[in-house]
Amino acid sequence: MRTQVGIVGAGPAGLLLSHLLHLQGVESVVLEARSRQYVEERVRAGVLEHGTVNTLKEAGVGARMMRQGLMHHGIELQFAKRRHRIDFQELTGGKGVMVYAQHEVVKDLVEARLAVQGQLYYELEDVRVSAFDGSKPKIHFRRDGTAQELTCDFIAGCDGFHGICRPSIPARVLNIFERVYPFAWLGILAQAAPSSKELIYAYHERGFALLSMRSPEISRLYIQCPPEEDIANWPDEKIWQELQTRLGMDGWKLTEGSVLQKGITGMRSFVVEPMRFGSLFLAGDSAHIVPPTGAKGLNLAAADVRVLARALAEYYSSGKTHLLDAYSETCLRRVWKVQRFSWWMTSMLHRFAEENPFDQRRQLAELDYVTSSRAASTSLAENYVGLPLD
Ligand SMILES: Cc1cc2nc3c(=O)[nH]c(=O)nc-3n(C[C@H](O)[C@H](O)[C@H](O)COP(=O)(O)OP(=O)(O)OC[C@H]3O[C@@H](n4cnc5c(N)ncnc54)[C@H](O)[C@@H]3O)c2cc1C
Repeated sequence: MRTQVGIVGAGPAGLLLSHLLHLQGVESVVLEARSRQYVEERVRAGVLEHGTVNTLKEAGVGARMMRQGLMHHGIELQFAKRRHRIDFQELTGGKGVMVYAQHEVVKDLVEARLAVQGQLYYELEDVRVSAFDGSKPKIHFRRDGTAQELTCDFIAGCDGFHGICRPSIPARVLNIFERVYPFAWLGILAQAAPSSKELIYAYHERGFALLSMRSPEISRLYIQCPPEEDIANWPDEKIWQELQTRLGMDGWKLTEGSVLQKGITGMRSFVVEPMRFGSLFLAGDSAHIVPPTGAKGLNLAAADVRVLARALAEYYSSGKTHLLDAYSETCLRRVWKVQRFSWWMTSMLHRFAEENPFDQRRQLAELDYVTSSRAASTSLAENYVGLPLD
């Protein structure tokens, strides 16, 4: 097999890259280890920045999102028994975010690729990349038990944090920056109408809690928990009780419902530099991870592949490599600003085991400042709706 761009991973980064390349006349093949059903049902992120929404709309894959997604123009910050709204619309000149589940974005992208006979291969085994320090890189894999090879001009490593592309780059050329947080999120997906029109981020003495949603019928709720927590110790009633304690207010209770899914996710900040080695380009979670507090993981993946698609299209139309050469630097400027924001939201809203009463007063003062100063609220709002795309 041969193509121009071989893409490892059919998550949001790989699929969007393949679609954007197609729109610019560049051929690609997407190779995925899991089944199509698994990838399309994997519940993860759900908040799309203003720029991500526009990217999907401009690429012709935003129609269902515009019909079914929920446009939000603010969030609530809850602390010291009060809620304070951050009004994105007013603070950012009319911008907002779209609540639309990541797996729905994935379904829309898969449909768009298949509608034009895009090449997507699922359930591949032993995926491996080679010769990417030369001009004819290869991706090797087994399909239905048979060994196959894809020769390409470039490889896009869109295979997430646990993929094979990043570890294939010689360790000596990579710089890794990492912070692992001393807590995790216990999250549930519940058949319950969201109890609030907008997301509520709660700072509570028992730990952080988040009220989010995926649709008018489905709530997505999280509580901070120890990283080593076992989900088996959390029957549904105990989770609802903890959520009621952390999110509840006088005269206000969460609407409960049946728990459809539950799980515990560790929290880390991670960046690898550079995001390119030879003809292998890393994009999305394969290059960076953010704690989910800022709702940025999926958006950062979309921003990377926008830059990569444009650089590859420029190369194929003019032979110029300047955008490809600048890929890593261009992406990392955004990555680090998003890392800063995600770290800041996480540090402001969570309880840390080593903190003392001074730190708690400081966190409360920070929340008070963010919600009472227009300059501070604007800073939160412009980062949350998404910094401008290049
Ligand atoms: C449990 C969980 C909850 C999350 N919740 C949020 C949230 O609430 N808000 C938020 O903003 N972000 C959240 N994120 C992060 C967000 O989902 C990711 O940032 C986003 O999925 C990144 O997209 P990606 O395409 O780069 O990587 P991925 O979505 O991880 O896609 C990578 C793809 O590569 C495939 N793959 C891996 N290895 C191979 C291989 N060897 N060969 C072929 N294919 C391979 C994988 O199966 C996968 O389909 C969450 C992540 C997780 C894990």
